[in-house]
Amino acid sequence: MSYQVTWAETKLNKNEVSKLQEDGLDVFKDLPELVKHPFSEVDKSYYMYFKFAGLTVQKPQADGNFMMRIKVPGGVINLKQADHIAWIAENYGHGYVDLTTRQAVQYHWIPFAKLPEIFKGINAVGLTTAGAEGDITRNIIDNPLSGIDPDELFDTRELVLKVNAHFQGNRDYSNLPRKMKISISSSLYNAGNAEINDLSFVPALKTMHGETVKGFNVLIGGGLGMRPFLGLAMNIFVTPDQVVDLADAVVTLYRDNGYRRNRSKARLKFLIQDWGVAKFEAQLREILPDLATAGDNQMIGWSAGAALGIHPQKQTGYNYIGVSIPAGRLAAADFRAFIDIARQYGRDELRFDHAQNLVIPYISDADLDTVKALPIFEHYSYNPHQLLDFGTSCTGAQYCNLANAHTKELLKPLLNNLDDRFSFDQPLQITLTGCGNNCAHRSTADIGVEGAGGKTASGDKVEAYKLSLGGSLLNGGHFTEMLKGKVDQAHLADGIAAILADYRDHKTTAESFYAY
Ligand code: SF4
Repeated sequence: MSYQVTWAETKLNKNEVSKLQEDGLDVFKDLPELVKHPFSEVDKSYYMYFKFAGLTVQKPQADGNFMMRIKVPGGVINLKQADHIAWIAENYGHGYVDLTTRQAVQYHWIPFAKLPEIFKGINAVGLTTAGAEGDITRNIIDNPLSGIDPDELFDTRELVLKVNAHFQGNRDYSNLPRKMKISISSSLYNAGNAEINDLSFVPALKTMHGETVKGFNVLIGGGLGMRPFLGLAMNIFVTPDQVVDLADAVVTLYRDNGYRRNRSKARLKFLIQDWGVAKFEAQLREILPDLATAGDNQMIGWSAGAALGIHPQKQTGYNYIGVSIPAGRLAAADFRAFIDIARQYGRDELRFDHAQNLVIPYISDADLDTVKALPIFEHYSYNPHQLLDFGTSCTGAQYCNLANAHTKELLKPLLNNLDDRFSFDQPLQITLTGCGNNCAHRSTADIGVEGAGGKTASGDKVEAYKLSLGGSLLNGGHFTEMLKGKVDQAHLADGIAAILADYRDHKTTAESFYAY
């Protein structure tokens, strides 16, 4: 279905004009013919379509290699899928798989000529790259501990898969003004990072016909990027069986009314800011007239999207192990070691959280000590206590075309340096993001580090970083506030150390950077 053209679209941006000529999902139809020719013959105007297949042309662009992202709805994979994810890394990804802040996985160096056969293998294990990027509904995220979490209202895994199935490959929704991020979680600790998604379902209770009903309140219009906005509460409560219809109505309203002139102002958050929540909600109620008013929000904290450490599951006698993966970059051989642990001691699954870490569920009490003693844990921590355990990083200048500075390969040495100098009794999150697009969640970190262009006193160009403080999604959320000036790479550790020393020396008990 093509979207309804409104007054706002007398002048469409270039991508919009292209998308009217060919649907983004047609990239899968085009690829077998495209790869018969050298990559240099692909016109740059086509690069936009690759996004809909989860592909970004990696720099140097002339080489014909891709960053490729695979969607993992809710961040849960079975071990056959895990084996294949490792296999791709070994055969096409230079031996590494990167975990994202949206429970997906991504690779670099994926060769153009091999794309059709790579996609075939991914589809054969029940996964897809379709919609992992592009102007479409993206990977739908969940509480990474859904179904095993003692601190959730109910299990949301089936619901996430249902909403994913509704949108996946559906050409009614494959031409949105920009990306659409949906979060569904019933975690009491906001494990779905609700306020930074376009559409979020958060746990709520509502008295209906004399009974207490479990369901969701709904937030709308959140998102990071250059101009971050926190999601705003609508006066709506839905039961789990109403979630698909509500998501459908929201995405339809966005498709038909979202802005298509200027891509930097096309996310749903800009429409919500202009219309206000009340107008958007009124339009929703015209589509779904029987929606209940909001229930009692059940969220009582924020997990920072991380599921780290060893903790009992809601299933008596079982534990999950949340393993810190520094900068989210995992060598395939190490990933295979975790797969082996799950195969031998767990069940047929592994999970990804929102802070680039891995979760191994269903380790029995009886096996726990044996598993903890395995050699892989000499290199990866299940006992998070250092800055390195909580840090996240985007791709950065190593591969990303938009980056102002390097990130991923810097995070580990940077945080190791700081861990040698400081020790804190509560988690602090330092994120390293390569530009204002904020992929590593600079705006919600305790200390957000953002790559920026800089110059030396003599005028030479250098990579520099802006520092910001005090982000959180507690109490509805608060974005980091930017400090003046920039630091170059050589002074980055000392710059952050000065802030940490000030925090250590002056904080009151349990004071976080949020209240800094
Ligand atoms: Fe690239 Fe910028 Fe996103 Fe980092 S934040 S991955 S540099 S677009």
